[in-house]
Amino acid sequence: MIVTTQPECPRIMNAITDNLQAIRQMILENAQFFGKHDTPICLVAVSKTRSRDEVMIAALAGQRDFGENYAQEGVGKILALREKFADTPLVWHFIGPLQSNKTRLVAENFDWAHSISRAKIAERLAGQRPCHLPPLQVLVEVNVSGEASKSGCAPEEVLPLCKLVMTLPRLTLRGLMCIPEPVADFAAQRRPFACLRALWEELRRAGLPLDTLSMGMSDDFPAAIAEGSNMVRIGTAIFGART
Ligand SMILES: *Cc1c(COP(=O)(O)O)cnc(C)c1O
Repeated sequence: MIVTTQPECPRIMNAITDNLQAIRQMILENAQFFGKHDTPICLVAVSKTRSRDEVMIAALAGQRDFGENYAQEGVGKILALREKFADTPLVWHFIGPLQSNKTRLVAENFDWAHSISRAKIAERLAGQRPCHLPPLQVLVEVNVSGEASKSGCAPEEVLPLCKLVMTLPRLTLRGLMCIPEPVADFAAQRRPFACLRALWEELRRAGLPLDTLSMGMSDDFPAAIAEGSNMVRIGTAIFGART
């Protein structure tokens, strides 16, 4: 596949490449400012609703990790770009709500799943993950906003769910993820991230092998980094506003 030769293309290309560079720089600066520069922070470029060409532009600029919310749409891009980046494979993260009828597509095509909040979904993914692929890397999504949010499991359900995932074949438990309600105030943004961080540390003290804390999006990633995030999921700030 080649980048289209439409007149706006060079402009889009430069914008994505510049944005990626600026975001990587901001991640580094925030990590340094908050004293978190000892652990690397993975940037997941959220490419939902974006074209294959836009993903390719980001990949050509060195971006490797991509996040998708809709299984079918994501699989289209995964298959379309596989050949082109065969030498330095792209890493695909499923970050959207995960219904039972979508688990097979995710199990067969993605590298990570961030939004596991029910035992049944974890069991289906384990059963459907093909043996020829490495284990699916799994994050348990936690609802840290209480009543305000519908996605993620309640904090008290996290330990049993993590323990279940650890017993399932073809899945590797890596950590926790959250999507807090959007708020503008920096101190308010930090609170739910601090909750997730505390829960993550409690589980690590209990001996669970967690190394990943997926939190922070375009509007709140500095607050997430301040609270120890080591995986940020950024869409708008890289690709522009979604229509
Ligand atoms: C869309 C989305 C993002 C990226 O959001 P932006 O505000 O565009 O950076 C991150 N995580 C999840 C789960 C999303 O659905």
